[in-house]
Amino acid sequence: MLNIVLFGPPGAGKGTQSAKIKEKYQLIHLSTGDLLRSEIADGTELGLTAKKLMDEGKLVPDEVVIGMIDHKLKVNPDANGFIFDGFPRTVAQAEALDKLMEENSTAISGMIALEVSEEELTGRLLKRGETSGRPDDQNVDKIKTRIHEYESKTAVVANYYKSQDKFKSVNGIGDIEDIFNKLTKAIDAL
Ligand code: AMP
Repeated sequence: MLNIVLFGPPGAGKGTQSAKIKEKYQLIHLSTGDLLRSEIADGTELGLTAKKLMDEGKLVPDEVVIGMIDHKLKVNPDANGFIFDGFPRTVAQAEALDKLMEENSTAISGMIALEVSEEELTGRLLKRGETSGRPDDQNVDKIKTRIHEYESKTAVVANYYKSQDKFKSVNGIGDIEDIFNKLTKAIDAL
């Protein structure tokens, strides 16, 4: 199985590139942000709890996202593999993901990070906010909170995979196809 963690700050291009990777390698794309937004759209209790934190740009509790991923792994027993987008975002989530992978007799193949500067991220997110309808993309303070959450809780997750020798990074600035080509080279070398 090919199980990839696509990593990077908000606005790095994880969603765009995940869709292309999913297609090429026939993987199941699991975006915790998308799963949470679908809970909100369905008006579930989980969605209601998550919405306030998401609108503020703060992370939702680990057990919420871990539970959603656990469920998705269980309902897709015959998958070729998974691409995790926006998960894990804390070391506790990374540890839980390793356990879940083990329970399913598989493992994370590697983490690939998209490297993008903070100036570029804020501009990209504000531009996306013009069409995405996402409240967390439409306000500079919320974007700052998201980038701060990334720097304080998420960036360190890279070290978790580095210590397992499973980390690679590619430059996330430039043409979408060029970035995709770099990503596929990194994936093929896993
Ligand atoms: P995203 O679509 O990945 O930018 O996620 C949007 C928001 O959903 C984040 O700002 C968090 O509030 C929440 N979220 C998504 N994934 C996670 C995660 N793995 N852990 C905690 N919160 C998350």
